Amino acid sequence: MIHVHKFKKFKFKNGTIAFRCVLCPTYVFQDNIIGYDCICWRCGETFKMTAKTMKLTKPHCDCNEKKQDMVLKKLLEKII
Ligand SMILES: [Zn+2]
Ligand SMILES: [Zn+2]
Repeated sequence: MIHVHKFKKFKFKNGTIAFRCVLCPTYVFQDNIIGYDCICWRCGETFKMTAKTMKLTKPHCDCNEKKQDMVLKKLLEKII
């Protein structure tokens, strides 16, 4: 079945780091992960892996920051 993978970082016994999909047996080595579609561990949306997200064990998009933006906007609206 074709789906967007939900990657989780893991380490081989020899120390090589790769990302394994928790939904299927697919895995991608860390060196090749950038640009892959991945399901966010926080919001479930699809996003593309970047040099920043590949550092995370459970990669997530910037949804948390978006949420903070919303809170900030609401605060500003109240002030204005
Ligand atoms: Zn998968
Ligand atoms: Zn997200």
